[in-house]
Amino acid sequence: MEKLVSLCKRRGFIFQSSEIYGGTGSVWDYGPLGVELKKNIKDRWWKAMVRMRGDIEGLDAAILMHPRVWEASGHVAGFTDPLVDCHNCQRRFRGDDPKIKGVPGTPEGQCPACGMKGTLSEPRMFNLMFRTTMGPVEESASIVYLRPETAQGIFVNFLNVQQSTRQRVPFGIAQIGKAFRNEITPGNFIFRTREFEQMEMQFFVEPGTDMTWFEYWKEQRMAWHLELGLAPERLIFQEHGPNELAHYARAAVDVEFDFGGSLGFQEIEGVHNRGDFDLSQHQKFSGKKLEYFDQPNNHRFTPFVVETSVGADRVTLAALVNAYREESVEGEEEGRVVLGLDPSIAPIKAGVFPLVKKDGMPEMAHRIADDLRRDVPVFYDESGAIGRRYRRQDEVGTPFCITVDSESAGDGAVTVRDRDTLAQVRIPMDRVRAYIAEQLSD
Ligand code: ATP
Repeated sequence: MEKLVSLCKRRGFIFQSSEIYGGTGSVWDYGPLGVELKKNIKDRWWKAMVRMRGDIEGLDAAILMHPRVWEASGHVAGFTDPLVDCHNCQRRFRGDDPKIKGVPGTPEGQCPACGMKGTLSEPRMFNLMFRTTMGPVEESASIVYLRPETAQGIFVNFLNVQQSTRQRVPFGIAQIGKAFRNEITPGNFIFRTREFEQMEMQFFVEPGTDMTWFEYWKEQRMAWHLELGLAPERLIFQEHGPNELAHYARAAVDVEFDFGGSLGFQEIEGVHNRGDFDLSQHQKFSGKKLEYFDQPNNHRFTPFVVETSVGADRVTLAALVNAYREESVEGEEEGRVVLGLDPSIAPIKAGVFPLVKKDGMPEMAHRIADDLRRDVPVFYDESGAIGRRYRRQDEVGTPFCITVDSESAGDGAVTVRDRDTLAQVRIPMDRVRAYIAEQLSD
C-alpha cells in the first residue's frame, strides 16, 4: 500500500486534500490521472446499470435534502458508532476497535495508543452525519445534513421517476453521487474517507419476488467486478447471518475484495433486500402515498427494494491494488513497475513517441497523437531514452505505446508496443487510430 500511495502522488492519481495546509483528515483529491481512472469506472457502472438496460432509469438527486428524510430513514436516531475517548492521550477510538484491551469505562480498559489502563471513557453513541444550517439564520429549524448515502434521494423520487418514465415494476433507479460520513476512524488511503462517492441502484419489485431478484443482483454485481478485471481469487461473497442483518433487512451480502497486507478481505459493495422499509417509512413521515398500481391485475402495493451499493473510491482502490505489479526485465538491472489496469479504465490509452527529436519524427508523432486524441486520452513524450518513456507509461497503466522511428518516413509505418506482453507490431501510420479503437472495443 505504501508504494501505491507514493506512486499515486508522484504520478498525479491522488493527492492529500489541502496538503499545503497540512492536509484535511482523511479526505483526498483526485489528480489528472486519478480523475480519469475514477470517471472510467463510474462510466462502466453507468453503462452496465443504466445505458445497457431498459428497466433502470438514471437520477441525480441533490445532496441537501429535507431534514425529515433522515428521521424517516432512521439515520438521525440510529446512524451511530460507539465512540471512546482516552483521558490521557486525548485520542478517539471506535468502541468496537479490536485493538482496545479490556472494557472501556472500567479500570481494565487499556488505550491502544498510549497504553494506559483505566483512561478510556465509556462508549457514547456518535452520529456519523455531518450537520450544517441552511439559509442565513442559524437556528435549529434550519439544520440540514450532508447525505450519508445517495439511496434516500432515490426513494423520495420513486413516484416521480415511475410516473414520468411509465416504467412498470420490476424496475430500478440508479445514481452516482457524493456521500459524507464523519467516520470515527477513517484511513487506509481512499478505503474509508469522510467524503466519498457511491454508485447505488434501487430495484423496485413485487413482494414475494424479492429473493429471486436478490440472487439475480448478487450474481450481476459479482460479474461486473470480474469484468472490471479484478482477479477472481481476490473476490468473495460474504453473507450476513441472521444476527448481522440490519433490523429492516431481509437478506444482505457483501462483495469483498482482498486488498492484501493488513487490510485483507474487505467490503467493496453491498447487495441488500430491504423489503418495503424505506418506502413505508417515507409514506409515514411525509403523509404521501408511495404505492404502485399494477393495472393488469388491478392490484395496489408498496414495492420491496433490492439495492446494490458500491463505493466508487473503494473500487478505484481495489482496481489499483489489483493492477500494481513489479517485474524483472530480461537483460536489464532495473525492473519495471506496471499498473495492469483493464484498458477500458486506464487513464491514458496511448503514449506517442518520436524515437529521436529530429528528421521529421516529432511532426509525424504529433500528427498521430492529434488524430488519436479525437477518440482517447493520449500522452505525447519526446524527451529522454525510449526505454524510460515506456517505463513511465507502464507505471500509469497505459496499454499501448506508439513509436515513430527512422524507418517511418520511408515505410509509412510505426511500432505499437503492448504494455503487458511487450510484443511490438508494425502497422501503417494511417491505421493507428482504427487499430487502437479495435483493441479497446469490448
Ligand atoms: P463499512 O462497514 O465499511 O463502514 P457500510 O457497510 O457502512 O461500510 P454501506 O453503507 O453499505 O457501507 O455503503 C455501501 C458502500 O459505500 C460500501 O460498500 C463502500 O464501498 C462505500 N463506503 C461506505 N462508507 C465509505 C467510506 N467511509 N469511505 C469510502 N467508501 C465508503
